[in-house]
Amino acid sequence: MSTPECLRLEILRDAMARVDLPVLLLTDLVNIQYLTGFTGTAAKILVTDESFFFFTDGRYEVQAAADLDMAGLGADLRVLSAGEEKEIASCVAGMARVGFESQTISWKLFHRLESAISVALVPVENMVEQVRARKDEKEIAAITAAVALADTGLAEALAVVDPSLTTESDLALSIEWEMRVRGATGVSFPLIVAAGARAALPHASPTQAVLGRHVPVIIDIGCKRDAYCSDMTRTVCWGTPSAETERVHDVVVEAQNAARAAVRAGVPCKDIDAAARDVITEAGYGDAFIHATGHGIGLVVHEVPFLSGRSSETLEAGNVITLEPGIYLPGSGGVRIEDIVVVTEEGCETLTQSPRDLFL
Ligand code: ZN
Ligand code: ZN
Repeated sequence: MSTPECLRLEILRDAMARVDLPVLLLTDLVNIQYLTGFTGTAAKILVTDESFFFFTDGRYEVQAAADLDMAGLGADLRVLSAGEEKEIASCVAGMARVGFESQTISWKLFHRLESAISVALVPVENMVEQVRARKDEKEIAAITAAVALADTGLAEALAVVDPSLTTESDLALSIEWEMRVRGATGVSFPLIVAAGARAALPHASPTQAVLGRHVPVIIDIGCKRDAYCSDMTRTVCWGTPSAETERVHDVVVEAQNAARAAVRAGVPCKDIDAAARDVITEAGYGDAFIHATGHGIGLVVHEVPFLSGRSSETLEAGNVITLEPGIYLPGSGGVRIEDIVVVTEEGCETLTQSPRDLFL
């Protein structure tokens, strides 16, 4: 029987063949989890067109053997105590060149490998990440479940807020609690709740300040379910907001609508960013939109593809991405709205269900 892991390995081997890479050393633990199901903290993989070596230490021998067995990869499990570079060297002897993950290999391992092997070391970036970017049905189901937990967690937590008593930290903790008791295994990042002038800081940490009335409160939350992440932002206000906050909120909604309307398989990621950015720039807030329009999401909260003006990537069916335009006005506040969508051949399907309204 072909498991999802076997399919992923096949796709990776095709990608290696396309760039004439006979062997790839994987050090990124998330990529290793994706390819094998292994969730421990010590592992490396060596993939050739015929072999699959898995290196770990004694703590994970039993777990790794079970995971590899379940994945049906026919892996050669090697338990190492020391000298992993020698073991790796013996596995790659005679190969033309060895690819390595330049973003995650340690300086120490790289230099040890350099002296242990005579084969050329070739830096590789995002090869497994590109495979990860196209989600299968099971992955989309896990993300959908994580999104639903965030939707419910937010609604439940907001229902009991007293803006003159509840602090940013209280609200963040309450949202986390509501998500966890319903089955989230954790948060996908430290939750953000930023009220008033602090809403001008895109990634503010919650403080002991009360939320207050008549000011925008940015709430950016996400949780994990079956190893997959969700990520959502809403900006809300208790009591009438300023005319400017209301206007900025309308502009951000319109920018997100424009980005969503532009999403379709085959569209360059930078075009999605431009669709949102054009709306905000036309409204006069171009300088206040200080980050990219979105990112891929999966086993980690930020992954390829990235929807920025510098992106050279193109959307594919099965990508799961966020659309999160924002406007930040130092000293007074800010607005961000973030949804998760699944890219299809015809457009996209929005997973996030929470209302985008500003008023509570
Ligand atoms: Zn995000
Ligand atoms: Zn977010």
